[in-house]
Amino acid sequence: MFGIWAPEVDVAVETFYGIHTLQHRGQESAGICTTDGRTLTVKTGMGLVAQVFDEATAAKLVGIAAIGHTRYSTTGASRFRNAQPILLHDHCSGGEVAIAHNGNVVNAAQVRAELTEAGEGFETSTDTEVLAKYLLRQGGGEADMDAVWEARFSALMRHIKVAYSLVLLTPDRLMAARDPYGVRPLCIGQVGGRYVVASETCALDQLGASLVREVAPGELITIDESGMRAFQAIEPAQPAGCVFEHIYFARPDSILDGRAAWQSRSQLGVELAREHPVDADIVIGVPDSATAHAIGYSSESGIPYSEGLVKNRYVGRTFISPDQRLRELGAHLKYNPMPSVLAGRRVVVVDDTIVRGTTTPRIVRLLREAGAAEIHMRIAAPPIQHPCHFGVDMATRQELIAASQSVEDIRRHIGADSLGYLSIGGLQRAVSLGKPTCLACFNGDYPVDVQTEFEVDTLAVPLLTASAAPLSRNGSRRRPVRSDETLVALVPESR
Ligand code: SF4
Repeated sequence: MFGIWAPEVDVAVETFYGIHTLQHRGQESAGICTTDGRTLTVKTGMGLVAQVFDEATAAKLVGIAAIGHTRYSTTGASRFRNAQPILLHDHCSGGEVAIAHNGNVVNAAQVRAELTEAGEGFETSTDTEVLAKYLLRQGGGEADMDAVWEARFSALMRHIKVAYSLVLLTPDRLMAARDPYGVRPLCIGQVGGRYVVASETCALDQLGASLVREVAPGELITIDESGMRAFQAIEPAQPAGCVFEHIYFARPDSILDGRAAWQSRSQLGVELAREHPVDADIVIGVPDSATAHAIGYSSESGIPYSEGLVKNRYVGRTFISPDQRLRELGAHLKYNPMPSVLAGRRVVVVDDTIVRGTTTPRIVRLLREAGAAEIHMRIAAPPIQHPCHFGVDMATRQELIAASQSVEDIRRHIGADSLGYLSIGGLQRAVSLGKPTCLACFNGDYPVDVQTEFEVDTLAVPLLTASAAPLSRNGSRRRPVRSDETLVALVPESR
């Protein structure tokens, strides 16, 4: 997500480059919304940012401020209608509001049912629309729009569970907010006296903006012609930032909790080498996401680092492709081993995670075919045994290889000579810097209640039929959710 308030620059073009820099956070759809001070204009499309926009098309979206989004679907299918930012009518101001969301709302189904009961209709199958419609129904008797939004966000943060980092745009204000646990990242930057908000600091760098600070958990930031103001909408909870951002998700040059993700990853490799040493000739990383981890392993172990796999950079990240078929195809297209480096060598292969166990056996096979004498797989994170409900796609235990198999079973499955995972203690030493983080996918200790008993049933709420659709306020039947879209509910899917 990205947002900018800067009337003197081409805000849509800046947003185009901003979300392009954040492409790694989602590859399914992209969108930009601008305001000219009176009306909002939005353009969204399926695919990568560069498939939806170029500089010329972005430049047609004129305005004084803009927000943008790349989608990695967690609740709601990967389809055009679910692309963000989504546009809604605001009954308080009489204008429109656009909203973009990073995260996954744990109680989206419950809130959707409450809103439906109250007469609200839905156009998409996303938790974002649920969150947005809840937000816009709050407030109304306040003195001005500042007070309205503050009341709305206070109510939202009391009722809507994690996880959400949000950017919103109205004709005359840009807003950014982060849930009380701070699960997903969101930061504020400044350039030329104007403000920018972004999911990661790498999007500030490409603009030449300096990092002001992270949006605090439970905080609402408002940016408009008079500058920036902050409102603590609710007391922050025990911090539960996603540790997976440090391990894998964030770009390595992004600063998280005051430190570059690359540094954390390198330190994960150091801890991994201490916990799982092995006699070997070279250390390679699975590119690109495990390169820093491998360099850390090499520096601690003294085993030389080398590149042994070449990645086709034009195949997306397999982990965040929207279905298993695409993931498997991605893994096959993605890597090519280098026999000149690998033949006859005992190889330590460092990867950041094994989630489903789809890609790793393929990589081990490729390395063997290239002549590697031994393959010692080292994983710079503990086994992922629990689903994420907060915005990373590992929704069900069935998908997680470590939820049902021992380390030895997994070693046999992937075909490595040895396998070692980093411990939770090692992960905390490398990443946490003394600040609590969410570790739920590793230890099952979720920062909020989640209804894990429903997870095996893959999460679809029964679809409404036309005759069963609730009556709207004017007595007509609202359009039911389409049968090819399921609102992922009860335990919202994390993709
Ligand atoms: S469960 Fe794991 S992936 Fe999900 S927010 Fe927590 S640490 Fe991140």
